[in-house]
Amino acid sequence: PAAAVGHSVIPIVNKLQDIFAQLGSSSTIDLPQVAVVGSQSSGKSSVLEALVGRDFLPRGTDICTRRPLVLQLVHLPRRSESAAAEGGDEWGEFLHVHGKRFYDFSEIRREIQEETDREAGVRKGVSDKQIRLKIFSPNVLNITLVDLPGITKVPVGDQPSDIEARIRTMIMSYIKHKTCIILAVSPANADLANSDALQMARTADPDGSRTIGVITKLDIMDRGTDARNFLLGNVIPLRLGYVGVVNRSQQDINFNRSIKDALASEEIFFRSNPAYHGLSHCCGVPQLAKKLNQILVQHIMAVLPGLKSRINTQLVTVAKEHAAYGDVVESKAGQGVKLLNILAKYCEAFSSMVEGKNELSTDE
Ligand code: GDP
Ligand code: MG
Repeated sequence: PAAAVGHSVIPIVNKLQDIFAQLGSSSTIDLPQVAVVGSQSSGKSSVLEALVGRDFLPRGTDICTRRPLVLQLVHLPRRSESAAAEGGDEWGEFLHVHGKRFYDFSEIRREIQEETDREAGVRKGVSDKQIRLKIFSPNVLNITLVDLPGITKVPVGDQPSDIEARIRTMIMSYIKHKTCIILAVSPANADLANSDALQMARTADPDGSRTIGVITKLDIMDRGTDARNFLLGNVIPLRLGYVGVVNRSQQDINFNRSIKDALASEEIFFRSNPAYHGLSHCCGVPQLAKKLNQILVQHIMAVLPGLKSRINTQLVTVAKEHAAYGDVVESKAGQGVKLLNILAKYCEAFSSMVEGKNELSTDE
């Protein structure tokens, strides 16, 4: 329930991946990368955290993200209820810390901060050397999210005079790839026409086929203004549209407010604010997750035909092997046939679910 990414696709894609793992097959579904871009303090790290559903990224009013963080989410089959209750089924591992599992997510945040300081110095320096973190959990899809430093204009601390150009180059090296989904984050309390995020996204993805606009800080707009026109695409149109969100404020962070709390109050915000009535399809973190989800579904649909034919070929081979063994049902080959049959069924279910009706239900 923690991860908002995926909704109803999670169970099916995860099942597919579990079965692939049991088959010892390396062929699995590679999902695209998702990167966040925007100016400093626009709320990029907050949006990623809300999507993952866990607190572990450094956030704040100062420059916090100073190195690219490549966050690889790794789905694990759900273990027993008791293991889950002990909190032992979700952990993080850093590439630079060998052989250590971080079960405490606040320790993960501390490690990100310390490792940032080690490479980029303590005086606000920025480095393009990645920090690589894997999160293992039964609540996530196998997807890679990239948290990037925000665009800043005026050098502070140890930053070089060309800091803006350097950060732009760094961001571009991620978002230029055709397989990267861009979350272009702009705060609602600034003019959208000045948005660094939208400007960079347009350079990397001119036809807007892989850019989702995210408008943060709807809760702190000037009195008497609202983001309705932004969200409707009346100000700057975007093919995949916009989603407005309300993340935790700095005060919420200081008071350790939980993500669950924040999601509940986000919902109340949209429900009680007449400006956003009738816009429920583009309001809130769950809608952002759903939009991402639809893009992932399209991606899976594109790779599914190849996957199906691979499974069918494998099925024929294993069935022959099985026949050669006679009636030993629990033989390895027998299990293989069973698993492949299940897999084939899941592929079918997935296609008919998507082909039938593109509107997926949001409850699992
Ligand atoms: P980043 O630099 O783009 O990664 O931004 P952060 O996620 O670190 O957020 C910067 C600051 O803005 C933090 O103090 C957050 O608490 C605050 N913030 C982010 N999103 C929102 C929002 O939707 N509403 C409010 N009130 N504050 C937000
Ligand atoms: Mg950040």
